[in-house]
Amino acid sequence: QAHLDRIAAVDGDVHAFLHVSDAALSTAASIDARRAAGEPLGALAGVPIAIKDILCTTDMPTTAGSRILEGWVSPYDATVVRKLREADLVPLGKTNMDEFAMGSSTEHSAYGPTRNPWSLDRIPGGSGGGSAAAVAAFESPLALGSDTGGSIRQPAAVTGSVGVKPTYGGVSRYGAIALASSLDQVGPVSRTVLDAALLHDVIGGHDRRDSTSLRDEWPSFAEAARAGAQSRSLKGVRVGVVKELDGEGFQAGVHTLFHQALDTMAAAGAEIVEVSAPSFEYAIAAYYLILPAEASSNLAKFDSVRFGMRAKIPGGGTVEDVMAATREAGLGDEVKRRIILGTYALSAGYYDAYYGSAQKVRTLIQRDFDAAFTQADVLVSPSAPTTAFKLGEKLNDPLAMYLNDVTTIPANLAGVPGMSLPMGLAAEDGLPAGLQIMAPAREDARLYTVGAALE
Ligand code: GLN
Repeated sequence: QAHLDRIAAVDGDVHAFLHVSDAALSTAASIDARRAAGEPLGALAGVPIAIKDILCTTDMPTTAGSRILEGWVSPYDATVVRKLREADLVPLGKTNMDEFAMGSSTEHSAYGPTRNPWSLDRIPGGSGGGSAAAVAAFESPLALGSDTGGSIRQPAAVTGSVGVKPTYGGVSRYGAIALASSLDQVGPVSRTVLDAALLHDVIGGHDRRDSTSLRDEWPSFAEAARAGAQSRSLKGVRVGVVKELDGEGFQAGVHTLFHQALDTMAAAGAEIVEVSAPSFEYAIAAYYLILPAEASSNLAKFDSVRFGMRAKIPGGGTVEDVMAATREAGLGDEVKRRIILGTYALSAGYYDAYYGSAQKVRTLIQRDFDAAFTQADVLVSPSAPTTAFKLGEKLNDPLAMYLNDVTTIPANLAGVPGMSLPMGLAAEDGLPAGLQIMAPAREDARLYTVGAALE
């Protein structure tokens, strides 16, 4: 009730939610009744959670921030949503996002932007700005996000929250509406590292319904976080500073906070080493070919026949006319831009020059990570080049918007896990900035130990 009250009080301004569940109180009451009857309860029984609207839910609409899915209700739950219910968490609602998770500011939502609770004229990051804002505004203690190029970590950074992109394959994507299938991961947003770990423990693990799901036995991330929080020591940890993600292009206050964080890590016993990742320079260029290519294919299913909206054509029309009119009316400018880019990059004669080259760059970036991880146990950088910018500031300049992702995209291209945690407020604007920690694939536990030691 307290969280619903908080939503009622602030969400008119923040607009983190696209839909607030009308079942939250009854779900909580039934958990209470089971508790009173002495029945066993799930791991996070009674804890409210907000769910990014890219995740399918049977009891609430799922729009992915798009007009084309307005009012659509999924016939099945995403695996992560099923796991939330099994662990007795209480879904509060669905959170706002850039349409089909394309964006860094949540301004590309068809349902209006979300505002940053720290300063309502600022963006909350994107695409998962709704999830991060809900957590930062104390509307929900936990949220789920999805991260294809930074959509969990960057919103966490600019709202002073914690966000984790797990190892590719570590968390099921079944029932997560696909953006770019070789990059997408679902993960936690929270206010503390331990909270993120507790949620990661609930949602992680193998799922036979996701063909990319890893069969690993995962350690307890909560235990990893508790160990870090207890020792508060980074003795023996080699922390690699990625040279290419430090310095030019970063807001002065963010740069200062990052170097203070490095001092804190050194004081906690870490060995700070400089590592070089020369191919990171090409990460944005490669990503903005691979992502549109995969997205143009994934979004072909929104054809007016199988899902959601269907445009009416006066006097009738062919199937193709109806599809074209529906996609014209139902999809926003950024989505159309990427579909056009993607189909072009995949077209005969251009495939090798664009998609093929981008895949080669991707391999080089993976090799950079491999080399860096021989010198360091974790890599660090600022989570984003700046604090939250003003609404409207980059909306009409796609390239400026894309450049935000310079720090987060490499981890997606290589499939390695990454965390953003708060590192303080920038001197020039008093807004939060994030520290990004990255670990080798499958070593998500390391993020929680190191992150909790710093918190
Ligand atoms: N800003 C990135 C993009 O627009 C993030 C996408 C994501 O992680 N979903 O593609």
